[in-house]
Parts: sequence; structure tokens; C-alpha cells
Amino acid sequence: MSTKLFDLSGKTALITGSSRGLGRAMAEGLAAAGAAVVLNGVDAQRLSDAAAQMRAQGYTVHESAFDVVDEAAVLAAFEALDAQGIEIDILINNAGIQFRKPLAELETADWRRVVDTNLTAAFVIGREAGRRMLTRKRGKIINIGSLMSGLGRVTVGPYTAAKAGIKALTQTMTAEWAEHGIQANAIGPGYMLTDMNKPLIENETFNAWVVGRTPARRWGNPDELVGTAIFLASSASDYVSGQIIYVDGGMTAIL
Ligand code: NDP
Repeated sequence: MSTKLFDLSGKTALITGSSRGLGRAMAEGLAAAGAAVVLNGVDAQRLSDAAAQMRAQGYTVHESAFDVVDEAAVLAAFEALDAQGIEIDILINNAGIQFRKPLAELETADWRRVVDTNLTAAFVIGREAGRRMLTRKRGKIINIGSLMSGLGRVTVGPYTAAKAGIKALTQTMTAEWAEHGIQANAIGPGYMLTDMNKPLIENETFNAWVVGRTPARRWGNPDELVGTAIFLASSASDYVSGQIIYVDGGMTAIL
């Protein structure tokens, strides 16, 4: 009974930004729990390398290379999935970028680029997946937020606004779609060891701050998101809606 609750056999999951980093780790985790996965990224070569590695592990893997910011490409990708008879039961809106500059020096175009990638894309892709889930009266949406979904920080203004928006988008998806059998929730990862954080990991002062500020006294490993992702993707969370679960070594729990 308890393992069946978390079993994803027969389900298909689209994970945006899954050629590497947290998306890749969650894709592998969902596949290990039985799901077929649709991998996505911009760099087609990196994507097909990731897909080949996962197929070699015995998983069912589809590839869908598109830029999450390009609405026409998103629509075409969903139409291509429809044409192949691939139904998305689980969506993880994970693709994201970071850009660091103080607000007073920030160009509007850079603000828009970060907000478009981290937030507007989650709306557009969420709408496309959501419309299809609404006709089937079931579905799971997991939006990837951040510590910055609830807290501000210097030099990451557009990222903070976008990730706070992710929390709000998750709540609105819940308000409109929970009654139709769709559960939308968010994950707020803490500081994790991925390419995105390379400059921070290599910066001794920042590294010492993360370790000192995090009750667990260390950075998180990408595969430490897997348990929460499986929980939110599975029937174990059928009455969990509109929540953000922080996977952050305790950082948001203490001052
Ligand atoms: P990485 O930079 O390691 O990986 C980003 C992934 O997203 C890659 O697969 C990349 O594809 C893809 N991607 C980026 N832009 C686009 C785009 N426009 N269209 C399609 N795919 C895109 O990032 P992380 O794994 O660290 O971060 C993943 C998510 O988790 C992001 O939303 C991030 O904000 C969030 N997060 C990360 C934290 C961390 O500490 N790492 C903490 C909190 C949240 P490609 O390889 O083709 O470039």
C-alpha cells in the first residue's frame, strides 16, 4: 500500500529544463518511480545526451527541445506530443535562469528575460498542460520556486519577483483547477549544487555564508529534491494543493 501510493507507473511527466541540474535529477527520480518522462532543454545535443543516458538505465524517455520563452515553440511542442498520443499527467515547471545585478543598474530587458523565463513560461506551459488535464479531470503540476519565493535578497530582483510569482501562480492554479482533479504545488529548493550556482560555490565568502546560514550546514544535492517531487507527482498528495514545500536544509525555518 505505502509504495503503491508513490508509484508513477503508467504516468508521463514533462519536466522543463531537464537536460541537467535539478530538472535532470527530478526526471531520473520520477522515471525510477515508474513514470515515462519527456525531457526538455534548449541545447538539443545536451538534451539527447541526457536522454540517451537515461534510456541506457532502462527508462522510457521522450525528447522535446524548445525554448520555454518561445510561445510558438511551446504550442508546437504540445501539438507534437498530442500527435504522438503522449498525454502529460505530471508537469514540472523547472526551467529557469539567474542574472545578478543591483536594481539601480538593471536594464529592463534583463528584468524581462528573467521574469519571462522563470515565471511567464510557467504560466504558458502550465496553461497548455492544464487545459489538457482539465479535459481528463486529473493532473499534477509542480512549479519550482525558490527561497526567494518568500524572501528578498540583494542583486536578484527579477528572480525574486519571478519566484514570488511562482508561489502566486501555484495558488491561482489551485483556486481554479483543484476542483477539477488537478493538484498544483511548488517546491522551494535551498542552495543546491548545480551549474547555476557555480560562481557562488566557487566564492569562498558566499560558500561560508551558505554553510553558516543553513541549519544542515551544507549545500543540497540535486537528488535531494526527488522525494518531494515524487510525493507531489503521485497519488500520495491527492489532497495537497497550493502549497510550497521548502527543501532547504532548514534555511527558511530560522533567523
Ligand atoms: P541549471 O542552470 O543547472 O539548469 C537549467 C536547466 O534549464 C537546463 O536544463 C537548461 O537547458 C534549462 N533551461 C534554461 N533556460 C531554458 C529555456 N529558456 N528553455 C528551456 N530550457 C531552459 O539550473 P538549476 O538546475 O540549478 O535550476 C533549475 C530550477 O531550479 C530553476 O528554476 C531555478 O531557478 C530553480 N532553483 C535552483 C536552485 C539552486 O540552488 N540551484 C535553488 C532554487 C531554485 P540547457 O541545458 O539547454 O541550457
